[in-house]
Amino acid sequence: MLLIQKDSIVPMRNTQNLLLLLLCLSGMMPNSFLLGQKVEVEHELEADSLVFYLVNYSYMPLYITVNVNDRTPADSRMYSDFVLPAKGERAKFLVVPVLQPSDTAELLQGSFGKVQLQHGDPLTVKPDGGFQYGLPFQRKKSYKLIQGFKGSFTHNKPNSMFALDFAMPIGDEVCAARAGRVVKVKEDSKEGGPSAKYKGKDNHVVVLHEDGTLAYYVHLQYEGALVEEGQEVALGDVLGFAGNTGYSTRPHLHFVVRKPTLEGPVSIPFRFQEYSYQQLKEGRRYRRRR
Ligand SMILES: [Zn+2]
Repeated sequence: MLLIQKDSIVPMRNTQNLLLLLLCLSGMMPNSFLLGQKVEVEHELEADSLVFYLVNYSYMPLYITVNVNDRTPADSRMYSDFVLPAKGERAKFLVVPVLQPSDTAELLQGSFGKVQLQHGDPLTVKPDGGFQYGLPFQRKKSYKLIQGFKGSFTHNKPNSMFALDFAMPIGDEVCAARAGRVVKVKEDSKEGGPSAKYKGKDNHVVVLHEDGTLAYYVHLQYEGALVEEGQEVALGDVLGFAGNTGYSTRPHLHFVVRKPTLEGPVSIPFRFQEYSYQQLKEGRRYRRRR
């Protein structure tokens, strides 16, 4: 079986190490193992080769980059830089020739390199720059914007530069800012606080829009999602409840829209129905009217 160790230094761009173990040869274990993202790695002995596949069981389309190291046999074939569709068929990513069946034992003990999974499909995304988003909370509610676009505290990296933080009390309803399909839900974390050690501990809902961009609603309450993966949502639908999970100094909603690119997801600027990009200023309150 394949044992996958998570190397989550770069958020939203999960790097997984492939460590191949001898265990699978005992016949007691399935020859696949769950990666993050509900992706499985499978291998099969086909004719004179050991063939490795990725299977995506999630609703999130994923862009796959494979980097093999020098321990990979020289005559192997590698397939990289492709989209693994949501709920799609399995895709071959590595074919290693084996001269005799006993060679597989040795091969399965080695570490061949890394598979990177990125959210979304960078090959077909076409952001609709004119789209007017709904504020991500209930009608008639207003909340203070505590960190805006390019906020110096944490909105300073490509994947968060155009994020917005609204101070929302724990338990207040978070609503879809745009219609789409829920492609990821995480709500099992009880941990959060003002320390980078809580990175990756946030609960969140991710919605895929029809133009291929992805909206992230982050820091939700423990078990605070009201939607399921695969569900279609309309603008204004309640997605869940605000919280303080993950790296967060106070209860708030971190809202960001990302465009998948070949170099990883990047956040993109957007506007709301009631407020233009220029009107969004830190320290002001914003009311959803529509
Ligand atoms: Zn934020």
